[in-house]
Amino acid sequence: MQVSSITAHVLRAPLEEPFAFSQFSYTHREAMLVEVRTDDGLVGWGEAYGPARLTGTIVHEFLGPLLLGQDPRDVEANWELLYARSVDYGQKGVMLAAISALDIACWDIKSRAVGQPLYRMLGGSHADSIQCYATGFYFPQSEPVERRFEREARRFVADGFRAMKIKVGLGVERDVELVQRVRGVVGPAVKLMIDANHAYTPTEAIALGRKLEDADLWWFEEPVSCIDVDAYLEVKSRINIPLAGGECESTRFGFKPWLQRRAFDYCQPDICACGGVSEGMKIAALASLTGIHVTPHAWGSAIGQAAALHFYAARPRQPFTLTPDRKLIECDCSENPLRTSIVREPIAFVDGDWKLPTTAGLGVEVLPEALEQYRAG
Ligand code: CA
Repeated sequence: MQVSSITAHVLRAPLEEPFAFSQFSYTHREAMLVEVRTDDGLVGWGEAYGPARLTGTIVHEFLGPLLLGQDPRDVEANWELLYARSVDYGQKGVMLAAISALDIACWDIKSRAVGQPLYRMLGGSHADSIQCYATGFYFPQSEPVERRFEREARRFVADGFRAMKIKVGLGVERDVELVQRVRGVVGPAVKLMIDANHAYTPTEAIALGRKLEDADLWWFEEPVSCIDVDAYLEVKSRINIPLAGGECESTRFGFKPWLQRRAFDYCQPDICACGGVSEGMKIAALASLTGIHVTPHAWGSAIGQAAALHFYAARPRQPFTLTPDRKLIECDCSENPLRTSIVREPIAFVDGDWKLPTTAGLGVEVLPEALEQYRAG
């Protein structure tokens, strides 16, 4: 079996309502999907996180030609080839996101070739579903944040979520008021996390964390700079809330200092950014040495979402426990037509859980008409 063609699809979907987080606002969502075809008719899909035109160009001009003619089932050899040929120019960011997309597509093909769901190829799972947490609570433009947060909290509970993540970063006092407002709506039984998207200095993050210590938060995500291990350690040592981070990091080499120094409690590699399924498994293996939970970041299209789910499904809890309440996967609930409208049958969401697909590969089928509808001009 040989890779016979690779297509980089750059997609862009305008939003009905722009929204913001602590860093900037969105007027549209985008994704770069790779379609890898083989000489015997198999098709695999992958996705790159980040600027779609950049990652698409990397696949089209540089990495894709290296993979042509290779056997897509040789995932390790293919990964090493792509990484070795690009490491001199890009060890993180868009280069690794482009490698991620190709790696995911190769795994999709490898699983489809034997008719198995991807998670089974990665180690398997005794469970048939994973509990989701809702990612939402972005800052709207059309109404006060307070009103939107209350309405969204009620909607998530009504939809079956038992865990949800709140965006913070509007300033310590405002964040405290908003988080307490959501806690008041959802009650004590729902798990709440907060995510600052690295908006704060250690001093500010510590102040926020201390003021929220009685809000019973499951984790505080990206409190400080995503490239400053020492800042994480400072915050971690001074507040009683677990820290989460890692969505901006790439490869086992990038994650090494974070894990070695135990800079966070929840490690969040993005499978579409960290180097793909192959590299995600290595990062998870490193994390298993340190007592740090892995829970993938996922903020992409239906392809990225499926890749994160299969990867996570096949990661056993570390350490083993009869009480499964530490395994939670991110379920982006913000507006994104590329997540909700590009596959034939989205992954089933039942009672706050995602059901693991039973069909081969990623378990989702891309709609050709959706590719045309959202193709970036
Ligand atoms: Ca985040």
